[in-house]
Amino acid sequence: MVNAGPRAWERVLAQIEDDLLQGRIAPGQRLPGERALAEELGVGRSSVREAMRVLEALGLLRAQTGSGPEAGAVILARPTGGMSALLRLQVAGQGFQVRDVVRTRLVLETASVTELAGAAADLAAAEELLDAMDQPDLAPAEFLALDAQFHLTLAQAAGNEVVAVMMSGLRDSIEHYTRETVPLLDSWAATSTRLRAEHREVLAAIRDGDGALAGRRVTAHIKGYYADGGLAL
Ligand SMILES: [Zn+2]
Repeated sequence: MVNAGPRAWERVLAQIEDDLLQGRIAPGQRLPGERALAEELGVGRSSVREAMRVLEALGLLRAQTGSGPEAGAVILARPTGGMSALLRLQVAGQGFQVRDVVRTRLVLETASVTELAGAAADLAAAEELLDAMDQPDLAPAEFLALDAQFHLTLAQAAGNEVVAVMMSGLRDSIEHYTRETVPLLDSWAATSTRLRAEHREVLAAIRDGDGALAGRRVTAHIKGYYADGGLAL
């Protein structure tokens, strides 16, 4: 038999997407139960379950167990995990090259700090992260986690949630690579000292409202780290 149309779970997914678009269901709301959805759409309950699992993996839905008014899956208002998972798996499966991920980061981060320089955003959280990175004796992995958080905080401060989520996903997807770069560096002490100084300079340019300079500095900062590890961009 030729399977011409979409599979049943894809129809469930399409219906939920349409319900969201039309405002029939909204983020934060509970979806109807499995049985009700199956009846409404004329599909089996297993197809509904399958669609729910896909939505959950995409970070769009939190499954609830149990029965009563608290049962039923909840549409999430701020999905973030799906993008990271997708990018991470694509890098692991070599669908996306690390170099292309870094290049995409350059585009997004440059735009992000440039915009941030023109806004009167609160930079206290970013500043705190830089202070945390000044602690001596930070292990490279701890340092790099704070580093990633600093970049994400700037993107969030710039106010574009889509850019922030994409940046976070891109950075997560090469986290392994970023850590593996450490042993390839001539000197972690020298590199981390330079990264600290560069972060302060990026933040200073943002504070001064010089978007072009902030953009150039963040580009040089990201390129420099991967170049030290031997990745030609
Ligand atoms: Zn950095």
